[in-house]
Amino acid sequence: MRIDWRRNNSLTSFFYKCESCDLHSELSIEDFLDQKLQKILKVKGEKLNNALISGNIKFHESRGFPALQFRKDVGTIESGTVVYLGKKIEVVRGFPKIRRTLILSPALENHFNDKVAVEEKMNGYNVRIASIDNQIFAFTRGGYVCPFTTKKALELMDLTSFFKENPNLVLCGEMVGTENPYVSHHYPEIGKLGFKIFDIREKISNKPLTINEKFDLIEKYNLPPVTLFGVFKADQVAMEVKKIIKNIGKEGREGVVIKDLEMEEMPLKYTASQAHDREIKYAFKYPFDFGRAFFFSRVIREGFQAFEMNESEEELKKRAQRLGESILMPMVKTISCVSNDNPAAEDLVIEVNSKEEADEFVRFIHDLGVNATLLKFEDGKATIRRIHQSTTDKISNYLKGGLY
Ligand code: ATP
Ligand code: MG
Repeated sequence: MRIDWRRNNSLTSFFYKCESCDLHSELSIEDFLDQKLQKILKVKGEKLNNALISGNIKFHESRGFPALQFRKDVGTIESGTVVYLGKKIEVVRGFPKIRRTLILSPALENHFNDKVAVEEKMNGYNVRIASIDNQIFAFTRGGYVCPFTTKKALELMDLTSFFKENPNLVLCGEMVGTENPYVSHHYPEIGKLGFKIFDIREKISNKPLTINEKFDLIEKYNLPPVTLFGVFKADQVAMEVKKIIKNIGKEGREGVVIKDLEMEEMPLKYTASQAHDREIKYAFKYPFDFGRAFFFSRVIREGFQAFEMNESEEELKKRAQRLGESILMPMVKTISCVSNDNPAAEDLVIEVNSKEEADEFVRFIHDLGVNATLLKFEDGKATIRRIHQSTTDKISNYLKGGLY
C-alpha cells in the first residue's frame, strides 16, 4: 500500500496503490474514483470527482488516518461519510438525518404501517464507532476522528469482542453528560459522561439492523442501549408518545425517536417543550452565532405542540411567557456582559489525563473553526473557554453605535 499526494494536499496529483486489492498499479485520483470508489459507493466517478473539485469531498489526514471526508451529501452518500484510504479501503457512512414531526397525530399513523419502537432521544452529540485496521475510532457527525471521543468511548465500554466478531458493523450512539465538550446535559443516571447506543449499521451500505437484532447484539456484548419506552401499533403510537413526552419534559429530558421495527421506514423525531425552551435560551445567549432558522424552527415546534396538546388558556399563557423570557433574558445578560468589556463566552469542563491531552483537544476543535482556549488544567480536569466571536463582535459594535 502506498499513498502519496502533492501540491498542498490538493488531490489533483494523488496516487493510490493498493497491494491488498486487485489494483497493483498506481492510480491518478480520477482513475481511483472511476475504477475503485465508484464500484464501492455506487456513485459515478465523475460525480465524485466534481465533488472533490468543489470541496464537497476533502482529503483529510489526522494521526495516520488518511481519508476522504464527505462535507456534503454526494448522490446517495451522506455528509459525514469517511472513506479510509489505508491497507484496505473502508467506508463508514454518515449518520442519516432524522426528519422531525411537528404533530403526533395523524403524522405517526400516516408515516408508519406496522409496529414501531419508541426510543428515548438523548441530548448529546452523535458518534459513530468503527474498527478500522483493527483499531477502534470514534467519528463525530462531520466525519472527524475526535481524539477525546475515541479515548472516552474505549474507557466507557469494552468494545474488543464486539468488533472482533463484527468488524463490518458501526455502533451509532450519543455521548452524553455534563462534562461533555460539545453538548452538556445533566442525566441523573449518567453524571459526567456516558454513551448510549441507538443504532447499529453496516459499513459501506449503511443498512441498519432491525430493532430486535440491535437490542440482541447490545445485550450479547453488554453494551449500553438507549431506553426503549415500548413497541406500539402505528395507529396507537401518537397517543402513547403524547403521554411519554409529557413525562420526559418534566424530567428535563429531550424527546423520542420513533422507529419502524424493521428499520425500513425512515425514523421520526419529536421533542419536549422544555427541550425547545432550553435550546432557545442557549441560542439567545449567543444570538449572532446561530442562524435565524435555528430560532424560527424552535418557535414553530412550540406553536404546533401547544395546539396539539390542546392546552388550557392558562397553560398556553404560561408557555408564551416562558418563551418570551427565554428569548429576552439571556440576550440582555449577554449584552450587559459585553458592555462590561467581556466576551460572550462559555466555559466547558472535560476530564483528561494530562495537559497534553487537553491541548490536543483544544487544537482539534480549533481546527474545526471553534475559538477556544485552555483556561486551566487541574486535578485531571480541563476548563476550556469557548468564545462566541460573532456575538461578541456584533454586540460590541452595536453598543458603540454601529447600525443594524
Ligand atoms: P439531524 O440528525 O436531523 O441532522 P441534528 O443533528 O440537529 O439533526 P437532533 O435534532 O439532535 O440532531 O436529532 C437527531 C440526532 O439525535 C441523531 O443524529 C442522534 O445523534 C440523536 N439521537 C439521540 N437518541 C437517538 C435515538 N434513540 N435514535 C436516533 N438518534 C438519536
Ligand atoms: Mg441532538
